[in-house]
Parts: sequence; structure tokens; C-alpha cells
Amino acid sequence: MEYEKVLSKSMEIISALDWTLSPEEITQKTQELIDLGNVEYEKIVSIPSEQRFFANVVKKLDLISLQLTNLNASLYFPAYMSTDSEIRKISNEASQTISKYFIEVGMREDLYQAVKDAKQNSRDNLDTIDSRLVERQLRDFRRNGLDLEDSIKVKIKSIRKELAKLSIEFSQVLNEIKDTVEYTESELSGIPESTISNFKKDESGNYLVGMSYPEVLPVLDYAKDSNTRAKMAKVYGNRGIAEGNVARLEKAITLKDELAKLKGYENHAEFMLEVKMAKNPKNVIDFIDDLIVKLKPKGISDLDLLVKEKQKDGDSETKINFEDWRYYKRVVVENDYNVDDEVIKQYFPMKKTVEGMLQFYQDLLSLIFIELNNVPKWHDHVQVYAILDKNTDNFIGIFYLDLFPRDGKFNHAAAFPLIHGRQMENGSYCQPVAAMECNFTKPTKETPSLLQHSEVVTLYHEFGHIMHQTITKSRYATFSGSSVSRDFVEAPSQMLENWIWEPMILSKITSHYKTGEVMPMDLVDKLVKSRDAFSGLTDLRQLFFGKYDMIAHTNSQLESQKLWHELQEETSLIPPYPKTNPAASFGHIMGGYDAGYYGYMWSKVIAQDMFTKFQENGITSSDIGMDYRRHILEHGNDFDENELVERFLGRKTNNKAFLKSLGLEN
Ligand SMILES: [Zn+2]
Repeated sequence: MEYEKVLSKSMEIISALDWTLSPEEITQKTQELIDLGNVEYEKIVSIPSEQRFFANVVKKLDLISLQLTNLNASLYFPAYMSTDSEIRKISNEASQTISKYFIEVGMREDLYQAVKDAKQNSRDNLDTIDSRLVERQLRDFRRNGLDLEDSIKVKIKSIRKELAKLSIEFSQVLNEIKDTVEYTESELSGIPESTISNFKKDESGNYLVGMSYPEVLPVLDYAKDSNTRAKMAKVYGNRGIAEGNVARLEKAITLKDELAKLKGYENHAEFMLEVKMAKNPKNVIDFIDDLIVKLKPKGISDLDLLVKEKQKDGDSETKINFEDWRYYKRVVVENDYNVDDEVIKQYFPMKKTVEGMLQFYQDLLSLIFIELNNVPKWHDHVQVYAILDKNTDNFIGIFYLDLFPRDGKFNHAAAFPLIHGRQMENGSYCQPVAAMECNFTKPTKETPSLLQHSEVVTLYHEFGHIMHQTITKSRYATFSGSSVSRDFVEAPSQMLENWIWEPMILSKITSHYKTGEVMPMDLVDKLVKSRDAFSGLTDLRQLFFGKYDMIAHTNSQLESQKLWHELQEETSLIPPYPKTNPAASFGHIMGGYDAGYYGYMWSKVIAQDMFTKFQENGITSSDIGMDYRRHILEHGNDFDENELVERFLGRKTNNKAFLKSLGLEN
């Protein structure tokens, strides 16, 4: 496709986005969005019940959701990228108002009735994806409790309110933790000078170390004296207890169980997992227990390395305590793996690394990216690209790259969907747009921007999400792009991290910022070897959190400290610090990730399994890349995630590849 044509097509698509809105306009357009929704929903409920069909109700609801979500892009996204604090504040408020509105829409009984009628009237001539859309809409209304008697609904509402309050208080406590540990200078021996100089001091000249990661981790990682680390472990493991978080957590577990039972579920986990790839708590527990057994040998050999290191310190004790494991792990990694981040990063100058990443994705997935000049964007640094299909030359979508930090900008790395894909009634396709936000150091004339290897991994990971969000051909907005369940959504990106650990790829994409030389093989080997350092203990720790979360949410009562102490050493091989209760500061379990902590390991296992398809056929095989596009990326959530993966692999997924990647046979 000629550049001019690509440009005009792109302009047409992004004309739906507006990055110039003032705070007043954001507020006004938020109201317009809600008004539009109300008008459209009213049209649906005013259709007489015998005239309600798939097309004018179910399909129409999907279209309205597309229109509203796409309008929302210009309203919610400024909160993440604007340099104007007033705009960020208003954008945040807009986003909350709109989420609240969508929740209210999900509670509308008249809309639920319309979908039920449509199902009744148009039962026979729907294909799999149409039927899936009907069932999805019914499911979501049902999960909101719309089938229940009024007295139960009232009860549910009051429990939800109580839960929301507990959850807010729980995280407020954690945000406002003021605990400190007092140390003399000699107690901090081993911690780098540059870190110590950032610690606060009291009048007597002692150091007061707080509970933020940049304070806690250096103490646990570097302090030579185990008593120093133990003092920290004790205070850190008891955060939130004095402020009442244990009672809040345990109460919340009971309330969530009650809520689930009122809705007709056995427990909270069963309710949460109904909409996940894992489906039910039994599958999750089986998954976790199986992995624990199989990872234990690696965990035990990891532990052995720590014990040996501890004995070198003249300690005859053979037990690794909570306050020991991070410290000895760091020592062993430094001695045995000897990977110097400062040397590695010289081979990843940012500009070339990003270009290499874009080339990698184009080759693997048979795509062409065309940079667009002079198109509207929110900042000069932002780059905009059109995506074309290499084989057919068809226009696919657009992405923005926003790579450098700015004041007030979102300070992690993430991919944001802006316009969602959908088949339109006139036969055209609503082409998706997504944005990647990162924070790499901006190069200057004197100093190039060099990326840590971990930042390169992040880059490939986040761009994997961009591909998932844009390379979609789903018929409906409900299923398009990365709108898959949360225990699968990371899998495509986790899979794509693998390439950045492949010697063949590293020798291609690295280039020393001064000499242009590729990374020498011995450095590549060291880097690759370091990937699995202590992966046994690290993954067992993840599985411990996942299991704790799952047990808590399949029961009506939680004795949070007792369960923690019963479970931690048994699953992760590292004991908790005596008499602490880290559950009082386990934010994930209170909201958001509740009954979902297993998801990270779940998707990681699937990611490794999907990667085998490339390993078997050559990791740069564009044929397999095309299969991956067709079966995973293009389908979004058109089918159950288990089915998508099975179509791609040609078999059911299993954990063999994951274990093999850790050097474990099974
Ligand atoms: Zn991710």
C-alpha cells in the first residue's frame, strides 16, 4: 500500500481520538457518552418483546459497547499520559464515572429481559460465536445477581458495601504505614553506601529504615549481620496488624463466602473462576499441587546452594531462615552467575533495540509497520505506526509508542487499548488502535540511552500485548483483541519474552553502543544461564501465594496467621519469620486479584507450552508465527481460551514444556 493511502486511512481511524481535550471538555464528553448510552439502551428496551431478536438486541448491545468504549479512549487515557495534573485528575474522575455507569448498565433488569427475549425468539439460526455472545451477555447479567429475589438483592448490596469499605481501609492502612526499624551504622554493614545515604537518620545519628521496597530490600539483600535482617523481617512481616488488618481480611473472607452462597455458588473462588480459563477451584488446586511436587527437586537444590553459602560464613546451621534467603541468593547469584548489568546494557542502545524489536515482530508475524509522520499525537516524542499484513497488504490497525518518561506520566510499562476491533454492519472492520507507555531514559548528545536486559524483556512483553490488542479479526467487540480471561491474558506476552533469552536472537539484536559489535558469546551464555537462577524457589513462592489465596477463598472462615505458617514452608521451602502475619499486608488477596493469584503461574505454564511450537519448527519460523496469529491473536476470545490454545498446539496444553524449561523432566 502506498504511504499516502496508509496515511489517509490512518487519519480516518484516529480522527475518532482527540488528545486536545480541556478538563471541561472531558467532563462534558463524559456526560455525552452516558447520554448516548441511555438513548441507545432505551431504544432496545422499547422494542416489543416478540420483536426482540439477536440482531436488534444482542448484536446491538455489543455495538453500543464498542461505541462507548471507543469514545471513552480520549477520556480515560489522558490520566496516564498527560503532563497537566488538572487534566489527569479530571480524566481519572471521568474514568470512574464511566466505570460506575457501566456497572449500572450491567444491573438493568430491562436489558437482561431484552436479551432473554432475543434468545427465545432467535434460537435456531445462530452460529457458535453468535451463541457465545448471547450466553456471555446472559452470564454477565446473571452474575450480577439479577435472577435473585429482591430480599436477597438487598442483602447482597449491603454486603458489597461492607466489603468495599473493608477493602479501602485495608489498602489505606498499607499506604500509610509509618513503621521504621532503627539501626546503628555498624548494623547496616554490607549495604551499599549509596543506599545507606538515602536512609533517614534520627537525632542520635541512628538510621530509621522504613517499609518501602527501596528501603526494605537492600537490608534483606545486603546486610551482612543476620540480626539486622531479622529485625527487618519481623517488622515487615507484621505490617498492618496493629492497625487492624487481620480482622479486616478475615471478615472479608467470610463476607465474600456469604455473598457467593447468596448467588448460588459454593464459595467465592467458584464464583470468580467461573469466568476464567481455569474454570473451577479444583482445577487450580490440582494445577498448583502438581507443580509443587514437580518443582520441589529444583527448589531443594536451590536451597542447598543457599545452605552451602551460609556455612561458608562459619555458620554450622543448615537451615535457611526467612531473613536469610534473599541475602544468600544475592551472594550466590553475584558469585556464580556474575552477570554485570552495566556491561550487558552497553549492548542494548535504546533506539536500535526498539527498531530490532519492531523488525522481530514484523518478521515473525508477517506484518509491515509503517511510521506515520505528522499525525495527531499527545506529545512530540510519541511515534505512530500503521500495521499492514505482509502477505495481503491489508490494513490492520495502528499503534502508538510513547517511550520516554515525563512529569506525571504513568511510571510503569503497559499497553493500553484505545479503539477496539469489530466487524461493522456495512462489511468494513473497525480497526483497532493501541498505545504502549514506557519510561526509558531519554538519550542526550553525550550519553546514549542504554537498556537493562530486564527492560528489553519488558519491551518485548508489552509489545506482545499491543499485538494481541491490534491483530484481531473478532466479529464482536466483546471478544476482540486481548479481551480474554485474566489467567490467560499474560500468556501471549510471557511467551514472547522467550526470544530475548535465545542466543541466536541475542546475537542478532544486540549492538554495542560504541563499536556496534554483537554481544560476545561468553556474555550471552552467562546471561542465559542466569535466567533460571533460583527459579525453583521463586516459582514455589508464587505457588505458595496462589495456594494461600485459593484456600482462603474456598472457605468461609480464615485463620490467616495459622494458615500462613502451616503453608509457607511446606510449599515454598522457606519458613515465614516466627510470629509474623504477612497476610495483614497481602493486598492482592483483598481486592482485584482475589482468587486469581494463581493466574501468573497458570499463564506462564501455557506460555512455555505455546513456545514449544516455535522450538520444534525454528524459533523464527514465520509459518508458526502465522499459525499463532490465526489461532491466538486474531480470535481474541471468540472461543474458550482452552480451545484457542488447543487449536494452536494441535493438542491439549500441559506443563511439560514449562518443567523442561527449568531443566526438570517429568
Ligand atoms: Zn503483561
